[in-house]
Amino acid sequence: MAVTIIGGGLAGSEAAWQAASADVPVVLHEMRPGTPTAVHKTDRFAELVCSNSFRGDKLDNAVGLLKEEMRRLGSLVMRAAHASRVPAGAALAVDRDRFAAAVTRALIDHPLITIVREEITSIPGTTGREPVIVATGPLTSDALSADIAALVGADHLYFYDAISPIVLADTIDRSRVFRASRWDRSLRGAGLTAGNIRLKPDTTLEGSVPECGVRLQPDPDDSIRSVRLQPDQRIDDGAACGVDDGAGDYLNCPFTREEYERFYDALVAAESATVHDFDKERFFEGCLPIEVMAHRGRDTLRFGPMKPVGLTDPRTGREPYAVVQLRQDNLAGDHFSLVGFQTQIKWGDQARVLRLIPGLEGAEFVRFGMVHRNTYVNAPTVLDETWQVRGRPMLFFAGQMSGVEGYVESAASGLIAGLNAAALVKGAPVSIPPRTTAIGALAYYVAHANPAHYEPSNITFGIMPPLADPPRSKMARKLALSERALADLQKWIDGRTTQSLPALSQA
Ligand SMILES: Cc1cc2nc3c(=O)[nH]c(=O)nc-3n(C[C@H](O)[C@H](O)[C@H](O)COP(=O)(O)OP(=O)(O)OC[C@H]3O[C@@H](n4cnc5c(N)ncnc54)[C@H](O)[C@@H]3O)c2cc1C
Repeated sequence: MAVTIIGGGLAGSEAAWQAASADVPVVLHEMRPGTPTAVHKTDRFAELVCSNSFRGDKLDNAVGLLKEEMRRLGSLVMRAAHASRVPAGAALAVDRDRFAAAVTRALIDHPLITIVREEITSIPGTTGREPVIVATGPLTSDALSADIAALVGADHLYFYDAISPIVLADTIDRSRVFRASRWDRSLRGAGLTAGNIRLKPDTTLEGSVPECGVRLQPDPDDSIRSVRLQPDQRIDDGAACGVDDGAGDYLNCPFTREEYERFYDALVAAESATVHDFDKERFFEGCLPIEVMAHRGRDTLRFGPMKPVGLTDPRTGREPYAVVQLRQDNLAGDHFSLVGFQTQIKWGDQARVLRLIPGLEGAEFVRFGMVHRNTYVNAPTVLDETWQVRGRPMLFFAGQMSGVEGYVESAASGLIAGLNAAALVKGAPVSIPPRTTAIGALAYYVAHANPAHYEPSNITFGIMPPLADPPRSKMARKLALSERALADLQKWIDGRTTQSLPALSQA
């Protein structure tokens, strides 16, 4: 008996790893390279199709907590991300090639995983104890999409969102840009010696930075945060923990007011398929194309992806009028992506408009921004919290297809689907971590959100139950939520471990 998984993306790869790690055989179907998608470029598993960032990696934000929970559940995606990490301030970003290569190698090398390179055109029948996980992502092939639509009916939706351009590093004019992380949140320059390090008030370095082997301790004085490195502790050099020359992880393109006005006028005049239709199209608010934001008002971008707060231009000693941030996109450091600059401007116009950004006057673009299809089911009408299809317990949807949003969330849903599919093969009960954990909260949201206005969601603290006795400071509240989540996750893990699962031969 085996678990069948369709789709070797973030969710399918993690699901395969989890099921196989539970000693259950897995057959993993991936259609690439024989049948490509509009966006994937390689035949690798877990290919990152856009940004190279897994977002925040601290326990003061919900996606940082989700990642920590995944680490504790033995996530392959987190392990590969750690091994291919590049500098990105408080975020976890990776060299995409190394990351996908690490996941691919781990799956190929696993003795219980059989890989089949073929497109699956209909949902396989689920009989007996052989579960199927559909993890074919936002770009699910047409034939399978049609079959899923037939299964879930009118609740199966199509949806669009857009991706950011990437620029060649040596075409950036370094004399015009400056290197810094917002609020100096980079680990670089943390004064790599023992003793107190003073940080700006809302900087958060508390908690462990396990990849650096450093435990950072919060200062009892809440108004000025500082951290203490013990004499025998140091933050290692090297890309693995986002530490380098002490100057910050992002390249920042600073605008004067005049430069911003010129850029804005060109942006709203540029030809974009999106803007003509943007009232009809349904974009996530968190992933709006810049031209759509620009059409909402002259200053909307200055309060969104071009916000200058927390950044001081060393040449003027002041906060610029607006900023475009560039984030390193690969370990070689020769590609930088424009942070939050997803766009659907026609490519000719796109180059012209983006070259009005200070520092990018001579930029060459490795990839332009674009809009893509996003296929997902109306999860609250289709799925249980376990990511099983209601009324068909041997069928799971996982990943973006299941109505979560983002690389990390997709992998997290695959993780639970994989564990539960393995449990079914073994004749054991399915379960999910409690709702007080990030992973359990995501599952709860997927199964219980309002189906009338359903939108795939990133993980946020807002979808977790509030604390009984919350601390007054926002930061302390977030850390307390994380602390509760990790304690509750540990209890769930302990419960599963002591649950005696029948051996495979008995199932
Ligand atoms: C263009 C684009 C940009 C995105 N940018 C970001 C971003 O920057 N950050 C972020 O966090 N999230 C982003 N997302 C959203 C989402 O996080 C990613 O799509 C993520 O890869 C979803 O993981 P997944 O496993 O569900 O799907 P995928 O990673 O896409 O994996 C699905 C796999 O299934 C395969 N497949 C499809 N149909 C079949 C079939 N019929 N038979 C066999 N195999 C099949 C595909 O080839 C693919 O390998 C983006 C999505 C898209 C489409």
